[in-house]
Amino acid sequence: MELSSYISSMYGLGPKRAEVLASEAGISTIEDLLYYFPYKYIDRSRFYSVREVTSDSSYIQLHGKIKNIRKEGNGKNARLGCIFYDETGEMELIWFKGLQYVATQLNPLKEYIVFGKPNFFNGRFSIAHPELEEYTPNNVRQCVGWQAVYNTTIKMKKSYMTSANIRKIIYNALASLNNPIKETLPQYITEPLGLMPLNRAIRNIHFPENLDSLQKAQARLKFEELFYIQLSLLKQSKFNSSKSQGLLFNHIGDNFNEFYKERLPFELTNAQKRVLKEIRADVGSGKQMNRLLQGDVGSGKTLVALLSMLMAIDNGYQACFMAPTEILATQHYNNIKKMLGEMGVNVALLTGSTKKSERKIIHESLLDGSMNILIGTHALLEDVVQFSNLGLVVIDEQHRFGVAQRAKLWSKNANPPHILVMTATPIPRTLAMTLYGDLDVSVIDELPPGRKPIKTYHYYEDKRDDLLRFIKKQIDAGHQAYVVYPLIEESEKSDMIAAEQGYEYIATHLPQFKVSMVHGRMKPSEKDAEMRKFAANETQIMVATTVIEVGVDVPNASVMVIENANRFGLSQLHQLRGRVGRGAEQSFCILLTPYKLSNDTRKRIETMVGTNDGFEIAEADMRLRGPGDIEGTAQSGLPFDLKIADLAKDGEILMLARDTAEKILKNDPTLSNKLNEILLIQLHKKSKNIIDWSKIS
Ligand code: ADP
Ligand code: MG
Repeated sequence: MELSSYISSMYGLGPKRAEVLASEAGISTIEDLLYYFPYKYIDRSRFYSVREVTSDSSYIQLHGKIKNIRKEGNGKNARLGCIFYDETGEMELIWFKGLQYVATQLNPLKEYIVFGKPNFFNGRFSIAHPELEEYTPNNVRQCVGWQAVYNTTIKMKKSYMTSANIRKIIYNALASLNNPIKETLPQYITEPLGLMPLNRAIRNIHFPENLDSLQKAQARLKFEELFYIQLSLLKQSKFNSSKSQGLLFNHIGDNFNEFYKERLPFELTNAQKRVLKEIRADVGSGKQMNRLLQGDVGSGKTLVALLSMLMAIDNGYQACFMAPTEILATQHYNNIKKMLGEMGVNVALLTGSTKKSERKIIHESLLDGSMNILIGTHALLEDVVQFSNLGLVVIDEQHRFGVAQRAKLWSKNANPPHILVMTATPIPRTLAMTLYGDLDVSVIDELPPGRKPIKTYHYYEDKRDDLLRFIKKQIDAGHQAYVVYPLIEESEKSDMIAAEQGYEYIATHLPQFKVSMVHGRMKPSEKDAEMRKFAANETQIMVATTVIEVGVDVPNASVMVIENANRFGLSQLHQLRGRVGRGAEQSFCILLTPYKLSNDTRKRIETMVGTNDGFEIAEADMRLRGPGDIEGTAQSGLPFDLKIADLAKDGEILMLARDTAEKILKNDPTLSNKLNEILLIQLHKKSKNIIDWSKIS
């Protein structure tokens, strides 16, 4: 057999099981099968004897014989039991399910390997539903040591593809290979880094020789996985920047200067200044800018965006600014209009609810070049939206947009416009390097002066009276408050119910104040109207579901109450908290939870109470949830699936992989050196799922 052989041609694997493996686990070739990595290992590195079993033994394995096989009870209460014994003693094995099948497997004449967790019950040790294998040399080889455990789905199990059976199939596949598995990394990389050869690594990942070999196999496979991602991303970004067709913004002009000198209501923070310099250097380089701007909530990214757009306009280009929701787009539009005042810069707003007649005018003014800045939602992506000379694209809150959408904006100009992606969800460095490896990163790591750190408190639900008193006190002092409710299930209806119940509660208990409400079922115009009322302090309390999450700016609001905070993820909590603390006054965030909390939830709440630092929170989030779950990454999509590397834990390997990739590309940007042929072949092979940026930009 070869790696490329279909598993259906394997001995002992019928077409039906092959089909299930294909549909459930995406396995169709031997290679796919060998890259179906275990998700954990069990220590079966030795056999225990019955005498050694104690009441706190965890999973152990024994070998010996069975006797006294008997069936007891009927129907639901039926059970199958037998005595298991070796030279040192006896214990019991019990089954409650699948009795008929198990009964056919039990034979007093045979010797067995038994694996399971012993219980002490009725004066003797027993194992319920043990794994049972015949004690043959072959099985001993497969079972003893660090044993791989594989993910299986219900459908797989129904076709008898349990973890143990998958292990057997993989064992057979490895045994059937005609040749050792070919190396996928050049020797000049593997040797100095001491990486285990692929053939050994694949064998050890499934059937570890010992703990040390297992760890070396894991390190090798993780390195390879991360290395090819970095190589692909870096190669592409080098390729992009080597094309000298980037639009050149070579001067700072009247609009920028007038705004900066006359209209800026405050001094820029040093971080804002630094980022602007970085952007200026990019757009003045003659190469296309692809920059990710990370900045915690409230760090003043919008202003950086506006100043960048003015640079574009001063150089004869148009700019567009895309936000994830209608509320946000509208808010940006209003803010920017207000800040620009009478400057004579034309700004338009385009969202799903822009009227047809207005749309037509906007489309025309974009095409004839009279419209300078277009702000909007996804509506900007539509093909009918065409520019005369688009020079800069700003995307706010990146995590809400997919990579493909980003690419769509790329293509709105003959030469690709400069791209500034802004995100308020700080992304841990390792994740940023993988998700946005093709982008340069700027960070605003400083908040505007005079902000007081938000104080965060954890209240249990029985302290509601205190909470209501607290809200009242704050509002009496002239401030405003948000009260946010979680979604119970993912539907607009439940969103509405949560908000309406919350509204009832607040309106009943704080009748002296006016209350606004925003939820997912409202029309954008209704949401907007409510937001405006709240922003104008016509209402003092805003009851909302998570639609409020991103970007909304009401500096007078000083209290953020989060109901059932246990139901929110860390980054969401942090985003919500960022809605307050935007003015000079002391702000508060109150996390309400029930008494009973899981360990993870308790850690989330403690993290929130303990720090205001978005990056610290992002790291904690990744540790608690794993990178696959970090908000937004599912939508954005990693350029490759990660099969073995874990971005939360494998930061060091990632850095090594990136370093290695960088060095290689520095000497050989197109990988045309004979030594690098293997890299090109692998890149090509692995790039099936990667977006080809070169085709887009
Ligand atoms: P975010 O980075 O979350 O998008 P915004 O751009 O909405 O932050 O800015 C938050 C608030 O801070 C806004 O009210 C904005 O006007 C204000 N702001 C921005 N830059 C400064 C600055 N340098 N000094 C004082 N206030 C600022
Ligand atoms: Mg913002």
